[in-house]
Amino acid sequence: MERFSILQDKKECYVCKTTKDIHIHETYFGRNRQNSIKDGCCIYLCSRHHNMSNEGVHFNHDLDLKIKKEMEKTWCKYYNKTIDDFRKRYYCNYLD
Ligand SMILES: [Zn+2]
Ligand SMILES: [Zn+2]
Repeated sequence: MERFSILQDKKECYVCKTTKDIHIHETYFGRNRQNSIKDGCCIYLCSRHHNMSNEGVHFNHDLDLKIKKEMEKTWCKYYNKTIDDFRKRYYCNYLD
């Protein structure tokens, strides 16, 4: 399945806006990876902000959390759902 992003319409790094060396990251990974892909909870990141440095979302907990929160808000708006719906689908929630 082609991955897409409900958060971004341009393929540029969410953090630094570069369009070079772009990866696509599943915001909710592990057991939530498939739902992330289906729902478009994916985000474009350059290699540095993805997993090629300690600043990357896979190693930087603050950035990971920031993106998870932002994505949850966007998911609720995009699909016209509540935080409870999010919790049912993703077994967790980052907004309260
Ligand atoms: Zn970047
Ligand atoms: Zn990733």
